[in-house]
Amino acid sequence: MPTALVFDADTLLCRHTKLGWQPVCLDLPESLSIEGYETLGAVPLANDKQDTQTIIATAALSRAFSKAHHLLPHSIVTAGDNARDEYGDAYAFIAYRELISHLSAADVALLNQSLQLLRWQSDTQFCSRCGHSVHAHPAGERAMVCGSCNLHQYPRIQPCVITAITRPNPETGAIQILLAHHRRYGQNSQFKRYGLIAGFVEVGESLEHAVVREVGEEVAIEITDIRYVSSQPWPFPSNLMLGFRATYVKGDIVIEEEELTEAAFFDVSDMPQIPPVGSIARDLIEQVAAEHTIDLRHHP
Ligand SMILES: [Zn+2]
Repeated sequence: MPTALVFDADTLLCRHTKLGWQPVCLDLPESLSIEGYETLGAVPLANDKQDTQTIIATAALSRAFSKAHHLLPHSIVTAGDNARDEYGDAYAFIAYRELISHLSAADVALLNQSLQLLRWQSDTQFCSRCGHSVHAHPAGERAMVCGSCNLHQYPRIQPCVITAITRPNPETGAIQILLAHHRRYGQNSQFKRYGLIAGFVEVGESLEHAVVREVGEEVAIEITDIRYVSSQPWPFPSNLMLGFRATYVKGDIVIEEEELTEAAFFDVSDMPQIPPVGSIARDLIEQVAAEHTIDLRHHP
């Protein structure tokens, strides 16, 4: 039976279970056709996983589409989003970033893909060349095709570099990492979270150049030994995060005040709050820590 995940912006329909909030797969009635992209709001997914512990979805639906087709659970329709205090059949739309730390990598990948495709589909209703309306690719390719000039519009991803910069503590020699507090994280001092230097790759730029430029713009220091580590798709808005390591060379930190409120080198054994488990920033920081046998398992 075809099943579907339901999204609303960056949130996902979940049910409250003993394990906390878990994504829900709704059974789709046979009468509902989601073949191709002909119905805006539904995205067919490739997913052949058999493991019952993981999400098995064949489609992703927008909340508006699900509501229009009477697919949403009753409590969401009647009680809205205030189901958080209920148990049993409690449903709510939960933010993607709250869910990923306790889902499997395969489920996170599926959610990520669904979110990006749904947003792309809803944002691609007209031809960007001639303004005519578009339709789904007739052969099921992931493209929206202009009915007038035949322009094919494909989902886009935006490359974004993120860098863990390290040095020895000038006084003790202990390993240090550069952490910055971004304005977008908010100013609540109790939960003040720090992250790594990151930014979008610009047109005509290599990834390594983007790393050097972003670090120069945001904290004005010189780095060397830039090396790629790993990548992670991130659906807000539609990024491919490319994780790098680099070594500090020289220069005093001067922050770019429009984006940052603070940046400094911290001993890895004594850091403030860092990004959550499941993010590439966390992975990069944990990699540095592991190389120096510092345990971050219980670090906030
Ligand atoms: Zn066109």
